[in-house]
Amino acid sequence: MKRVGVIGGGQLAWMMAGAAEKLGIELIVQTPSRDDPAVGIAADVVLAAIDDATATAQLATQCDVITFENEFVDLEALSLLANQEVCFRPSLEALKPLLDKYHQRCYLRDLGLPTPKFVALEEVGSKASPDRNDSPSFSFPIVLKTRRHGYDGQGTFIVKNAQELDSTLKQLRECSLLLEEFVPFERELAAIAARSVTGEVVVYPIVETQQENQVCRRVFAPADVSVAIAADVEAIARTLLDSLQVVGVFGIEYFLTADGKVLVNEIAPRTHNSGHFTLDACETSQFEQQLRAVCGLPLGSPAMKAPGAVMVNLLGYEDSHSDYQEKRQQLAPTPHAHVYWYGKAESRVGRKLGHVTVLLEKGQERREVARAIESIWYSS
Ligand code: ADP
Repeated sequence: MKRVGVIGGGQLAWMMAGAAEKLGIELIVQTPSRDDPAVGIAADVVLAAIDDATATAQLATQCDVITFENEFVDLEALSLLANQEVCFRPSLEALKPLLDKYHQRCYLRDLGLPTPKFVALEEVGSKASPDRNDSPSFSFPIVLKTRRHGYDGQGTFIVKNAQELDSTLKQLRECSLLLEEFVPFERELAAIAARSVTGEVVVYPIVETQQENQVCRRVFAPADVSVAIAADVEAIARTLLDSLQVVGVFGIEYFLTADGKVLVNEIAPRTHNSGHFTLDACETSQFEQQLRAVCGLPLGSPAMKAPGAVMVNLLGYEDSHSDYQEKRQQLAPTPHAHVYWYGKAESRVGRKLGHVTVLLEKGQERREVARAIESIWYSS
C-alpha cells in the first residue's frame, strides 16, 4: 500500500512525514484548515471537518487505507463507508468502545482491567449527588469529564466541593458527563503499543508523563519503575490491543498509586504525545510504526537508542501570532536536543506549539534537563 489517508492534519499527522518518505508512502490528509500543520507535508489534502464523512468518502477514492490522527469522527456515518469496502485501520469496531469516555471505562471494566471508580452522570440523577447508595460512593474531590471530544484537559474538571460541583454542572449543562473518583496518584505513566495485521504486538518502553493543569508538560523515558510495574502496564496494553483487534498504534495513559497499583486512565486510538520521544530515541518511531501497521508491513523494533530521553512540550503561554524563532534558536544548542516546531499560525495558552526531545547520557539528571529547556521557553 502506497497511499495512506489520514483523518486529521495536526502535529501527529505532520510527524508522519519522515516515516512516509522513508517507506515510500504518500499521505492524503483530511483536515479543516489550510493552516493545519500537516497540509505542507501531504501529497494531497481534503479540506473538510474531521467528522465530515462525505469528505472521507472522497478521501477513500484517493488512497488504499485510511487511518486516524484524530478520533473525533462521526462513527455512524463512517460505518456506511466501511460497508462499501473502505479499509479503516484501526477498524471502526476497534474505535467504537473508545470514543465516549464512559463507554471506554465500561469496556475496560468488562475486560477486567483496573480503572478509577466511575459512573455516568445520568445514573446518579440530575442533582449529581456523589453519595447515593445504589452507585459507587464518591467523596470530594471528584472528577467530572465530558464524555466526548475532551483533549489536553479540556473537558476534565477536578471538583473540590459541592459549590464547585454546582457551578461546573451549570457550565456543562449541555454535555453528557462522566463522574469518577479522583485518584491521588503517585505518578502518571503511559505506553505506546502497536499491533500489526498479523496480530504481532510491540510495546515501547513505558514512560512517565507529568501533567500541569491537565496538560502534558514533560515525558521521561523510560519511566523509573520496577520491572513488575512495567510488566503490569505492558500486559494491560497487550490485552487491550488484542481484545480490540487493533491494527495501528495506540497510546494508553495510566495512574500509578502509592501502593504500586496501576489503573488505566485513558486510551487514545492513535499515536500520542507521550510517544513523541520515539522520533529520536527509538529504533522505530511511533509514526513509522503506525504506517507499518496500517500498510501491512512487519513492525519495527521499539528499542531505545539512548539510555534515556526527556521530551518537553512547548506550550503556548500567551495569545499571539509569533513563530518564536528567537526562543527556538536558544533551545537548539542544548546538547543532544531535537527541536520540533509544528508551524501553527496562532499561539494560545496551553496550546501545543512544538516539543523538544533531549537524548540523555548515562546518569544524566532528567529533571535538570527538563528544567533547563522550560526555563528558556517560559522565560519572559
Ligand atoms: P484528556 O482526555 O483531556 O487528556 P484526561 O482524562 O487524560 O483528559 O485527564 C487529563 C489529566 O487530568 C490527567 O493526565 C490527570 O493528570 C488528570 N486526571 C484525569 N482524571 C483524573 C482522576 N480520575 N484522578 C486524578 N487526576 C485525574
